[in-house]
Amino acid sequence: MKFLLVLLVVVGGLWWLWRPRAKPPRGPVRKGAEATAPAEMVACAHCDLRLPRAEAVFDSEGYPFCSEAHRRAGLR
Ligand SMILES: [Zn+2]
Repeated sequence: MKFLLVLLVVVGGLWWLWRPRAKPPRGPVRKGAEATAPAEMVACAHCDLRLPRAEAVFDSEGYPFCSEAHRRAGLR
């Protein structure tokens, strides 16, 4: 019986030593943000609205606008 108790302690100790380690806490997972490169933001030259460069409308001089209407309206 005593042998069984010792065996239990040894097995328990080995399990405690080799148990899978808890992973360190990680910051908030932002898979979407990591998967896509951060979008470069531009400000509309008419109303100063910030929008991703990919969604901006550019005029012939390269000024970004938030919409076709503001591009036609021109600079402030
Ligand atoms: Zn605008």
